[in-house]
Amino acid sequence: MLISGNEYRERVESYDRAVYVRGSKSNLSHPNLQPVVNAIAYTYDLALEKSFKVNSAISGEEVNILNHVITSREELMLRYDYQRLLSMNLATCNYRCTGSDAINALYASLEGESKEKLERILIEIQKKDFACTAALTDPKGDRSKRPVEEKEMYVRVVREDSDGVYISGAKIHQSGAFAADLTFVLPTQTFKEGEEDFAIVFAIEAEDDVKYVLQNTGYQALFREEGEVEKGNPAYGDRITCMVVFNETFIPWERVLIYRDLKAIRNVLTHFASSHRCVGAACKAGFIDSMVGAASLMMKANGLEKAPALRYKLGEMIAASEAAYGIAAGGAFKGKAANGVWLPNPLIANAGKVIGVEGMAKAMLNLSEIAGGIPVTAPSEDDLKSEIGELVAKYLRGSKSFTPEQRLKIIKFIEFWLTSSHFVGAVHGGGSPSAALIFLQILADIESKEEAVKRNINILDI
Ligand SMILES: Cc1cc2nc3c(=O)[nH]c(=O)nc-3n(C[C@H](O)[C@H](O)[C@H](O)COP(=O)(O)OP(=O)(O)OC[C@H]3O[C@@H](n4cnc5c(N)ncnc54)[C@H](O)[C@@H]3O)c2cc1C
Repeated sequence: MLISGNEYRERVESYDRAVYVRGSKSNLSHPNLQPVVNAIAYTYDLALEKSFKVNSAISGEEVNILNHVITSREELMLRYDYQRLLSMNLATCNYRCTGSDAINALYASLEGESKEKLERILIEIQKKDFACTAALTDPKGDRSKRPVEEKEMYVRVVREDSDGVYISGAKIHQSGAFAADLTFVLPTQTFKEGEEDFAIVFAIEAEDDVKYVLQNTGYQALFREEGEVEKGNPAYGDRITCMVVFNETFIPWERVLIYRDLKAIRNVLTHFASSHRCVGAACKAGFIDSMVGAASLMMKANGLEKAPALRYKLGEMIAASEAAYGIAAGGAFKGKAANGVWLPNPLIANAGKVIGVEGMAKAMLNLSEIAGGIPVTAPSEDDLKSEIGELVAKYLRGSKSFTPEQRLKIIKFIEFWLTSSHFVGAVHGGGSPSAALIFLQILADIESKEEAVKRNINILDI
């Protein structure tokens, strides 16, 4: 089944969750929380409008592609096209991609009773059209130590009984988890023998005893202020994350999908990394598309739309976007089936992470150059409305085709792209580039490349 954005909104706002914003328990109508609800609601409306849906053999229903176990290249491309479009139209995270990655990584890795449990969870997800996220990143404490030496800093089982397990620990940097219907909780890393207490994958639902603590950045402060223009992206905001805290939280066995099985953890994390990094490239393409739109509008608002040097910069941004999308498409095309799940090619997926981040960096550099200094020096919308408004408007004007207020909106949107959580989010979301570079070194057949050179220069005896 597919529901509308409003139906999702009503459901998620009815949950009694402990979400903290600057120390106060808040409901989802809070100005710092609403942008996430708006963004997720839009994913529902766009899926209905543009048919980002498929038939699921698991529930027998028509479902959102993000809640589907992907079985072919074509379905994976449908997901990537959906997520690129979401990134462009929202200019922020759609908050549902990690849920899709977890569904597919788990389905490809689980067997027997665990798989049956996952299928029962999936039937609920698909029949109710849940918004799902995935929580992996632990606080970790001293990163040079193993989890057993920094126990408190990792999600772990503190006791178990015949009904289920009790979980303590926290996940940090969690994109939109407080506005999800269901979150899959996976470990942040693989484990060695003796670390089995940390080797757990489970699903949390709205009624579970979990606390959410919202991030606080400069952009969150803006969202607590009056007015619209200053926020840059008023409906959807920047990339909004939270800390998710467990304190002896009970999880029934029915929702424990992996426990103490180190091999299954390794498999699911490897599949998750490929899935998330490949879609991340399609997502970056959408983000760069939004920056291309902003850059082009700014050129027009400045009367510079014909300036060759700036048009060249715009061309470079388009190249970065299409290259990131092309990598995602290549990853889908060259993927392979694992237990009936069509997963992207891991080598290409990890390259997508590295090149996608470079593309974002390039696009932000070019956007800064095209926009001039005004995104970080402009006065506020309040000045425009004040007693000096006429003077401010006079000096804010660029091309006469745009009113000063329209130009200010474009400026503030560009400020949002360049100074919000987007850049760091692009670098670290889905794992830092250094993690992808480790995978690339392991997966690439460097020896065959050496052999080719040895043949070229006739040093085959080395
Ligand atoms: C906007 C945003 C959204 C995110 N959304 C999610 C989400 O929805 N779900 C989720 O699970 N995670 C999410 N993340 C988390 C993301 O996966 C992590 O930021 C990333 O894995 C890096 O972890 P860290 O930030 O804790 O970095 P740190 O562990 O603090 O590491 C800092 C740097 O040191 C490197 N490093 C760390 N440990 C070592 C070591 N032992 N040896 C050598 N180098 C090391 C890292 O690669 C990194 O470059 C999000 C992050 C951001 C910024």
